[in-house]
Amino acid sequence: MPSQPTIADPSPSRTAAVVIVAGGRGERAGADGGPKQYRTLAGKAVIAHALEAFLAEEAIARAVIVIHPDDGERLATSVDLSDRRVAVVHGGSTRQRSTLAGLDALALSPPDIVLIHDAARPFVDRALVARTLAAVGQDAAALPAVAVSDTLKRGGTDGLVSGTVPRDGLFAAQTPQGFPFAAIHAAHRRAAAAGRDDFTDDAAIAEWAGLSVRLVEGSPENTKITWARDIALAEARLRPALQLPDVRVGNGYDVHAFGAGDHVTLCGIIIPHGRALVGHSDADVGLHALTDALLATCGAGDIGTHFPPSEARWRGAASRVFVEHAVRIVRDRGGRIANADITLICEAPRIGPHREAMTAALAGMLGIAPGRVSVKATTNERLGFVGREEGIAAIATASVVFPGGLDP
Ligand code: MG
Repeated sequence: MPSQPTIADPSPSRTAAVVIVAGGRGERAGADGGPKQYRTLAGKAVIAHALEAFLAEEAIARAVIVIHPDDGERLATSVDLSDRRVAVVHGGSTRQRSTLAGLDALALSPPDIVLIHDAARPFVDRALVARTLAAVGQDAAALPAVAVSDTLKRGGTDGLVSGTVPRDGLFAAQTPQGFPFAAIHAAHRRAAAAGRDDFTDDAAIAEWAGLSVRLVEGSPENTKITWARDIALAEARLRPALQLPDVRVGNGYDVHAFGAGDHVTLCGIIIPHGRALVGHSDADVGLHALTDALLATCGAGDIGTHFPPSEARWRGAASRVFVEHAVRIVRDRGGRIANADITLICEAPRIGPHREAMTAALAGMLGIAPGRVSVKATTNERLGFVGREEGIAAIATASVVFPGGLDP
């Protein structure tokens, strides 16, 4: 780019519209799949990608889509036509005539600026739209373009190279191209009246009509879909975004019996109680269930695999050691813990008064925000071993996001 365009008229009061030219039959992309602008790309139509980029830009108040008269149904299944900013008109036999039909549709209530865009460029982004809009002046069009980087050769009819074309100052034109509406509409009408239908883009018509055309920095991403292989390439470019997140869920369950003692440890919090839970470690059922849930998210066995009761060193251990070990295993495999949920099932002690402290303790062990931790309690309605206060049970669920993602 020789120089950045100066912003011609930063006035936010200028009204703007876009004409999306979608009348082409797209034979080169292969007729069997229909016109390329209606092909599906990353789950939505090519034309829908483009339309969304324009409607995301606040300054664009209206969009006119120019279609082939046969494509009404295709368009209706491709874009949201209930959006009141969007209008549809039928195009003519050439791109130039289709564009004029779109401009005619806007002329009833003319905007200050019009952008004209090829529907087959789905990678136009909001920044490019904004740059182009900003560069349109009172008497100047704006043309996004990228400097030509390939060496250019002129080929003769004999199949031999007849020369090398210096690429200095050469740019490949893109769309959207931006224009003062009245000037480009008049230029298109004059071209039609003069029987000129050989212009390959709208900037060429503007040049012909004596409008100056400013170069705007285009986007290398903003490629045009022409061939069937372009669809496949575009699909491949979008694939990373298409991957489903690898979210895994694990559950855990644990029970410990009551025995003699004066406190229980639940979810890392010591609670005075007439009895204690019996176990090799501190018998914290909540943390044991959670340890199993975490290990389950990456197929890493269960708490007994990592901390066999036969090993004396775990005698009386604080169960947070088990949780922290499981967290390390998950992290080593690239996992990020999304949430943890523990339900304690007991008739007594009452859990409510300790819930906040438990949540804080769990958030600390897991290294996540307290809002991602849930501690719940329920009685067993006096049924079964829990109901007879012979022990306490706990169930836990953990979800962990692993890197890489899943193919859809
Ligand atoms: Mg246990």
